Amino acid sequence: MRKKLRVVSFFIFALLLIATYLIYTENENLTFNVVKETPRCVNSILDNPTQTTGNLSVHFLNVSQGDSILILNNNQNILIDCGPNGKGDEISAYIQGLGISDMDYLIITHTDADHIGGCEEILKNFNVKMIFMDGQVKDTVSYRDVLKLIDKEQLVIPDVCFSTNIGGGMIQFIHGNVNSENANQNSLVLTMKYGKTSFLFTGDCDSNCEKSLLNQDLEVDFLKVAHHCSEYGTTDEFLDKTTPRIGFISVGKNSYGHPTDGCLSRLDQKGIQVYRTDLNGNIILGTDGETYWISSEK
Ligand SMILES: [Zn+2]
Repeated sequence: MRKKLRVVSFFIFALLLIATYLIYTENENLTFNVVKETPRCVNSILDNPTQTTGNLSVHFLNVSQGDSILILNNNQNILIDCGPNGKGDEISAYIQGLGISDMDYLIITHTDADHIGGCEEILKNFNVKMIFMDGQVKDTVSYRDVLKLIDKEQLVIPDVCFSTNIGGGMIQFIHGNVNSENANQNSLVLTMKYGKTSFLFTGDCDSNCEKSLLNQDLEVDFLKVAHHCSEYGTTDEFLDKTTPRIGFISVGKNSYGHPTDGCLSRLDQKGIQVYRTDLNGNIILGTDGETYWISSEK
């Protein structure tokens, strides 16, 4: 009888051990899946000033809730995101008003409608030479409509650390698709250097995406605040690492509470000046690579 008891106790003990192990490894896997480290870019473009060619301008367009940012230098241009559905023609008119009919790079940071929505009109209205996307596939009308208009030869899914030039400046992709179920966390994130000035464009990379970037060289002058200044990003840690002078928030009427009080107060506490498309309208930042100037509609 005692022997039987001992055998039963042994089995119960063994089962408990196995259960503990399974719970532990499952949690470990969960943690592992959440924050995926991006490779550190050894040759960061932020390290060296670029040769300048006149002035470079960055236009944060007021597209209500969504992103659309135009960069111009030396007859070359980049458009980062196309705003939400219905905004593509408005953005096109703005760009055409500047005498532009060919687009060098269209960068679609991720597949959410407030970034890809207006791209259908952009692709119809411009001769776009190269399109950068994060490679996510999404079952939405906006995504399918845009994909229909893209030739394979135009499309690049950039590797992390890939860099290329824009006029006299350089851009470098420092984050890409990590196959997260949350599209924001797969955002293409890029840095740009022009002369001595530096920029960080974050798409909607907040929370875990932002954490995964902390190993990168991130010190910049100008920050496109991630995810419309949501509560889940723009942490104190991230701001200490990026040290921007000025933050730009692309935001409009929305039901998410963007920009959140917490995000705005973190920017304020670090002494970062903020421009918002909902309050300032279209915002233009100009630089000659040394100094900068900002103008806005409002
Ligand atoms: Zn967004």
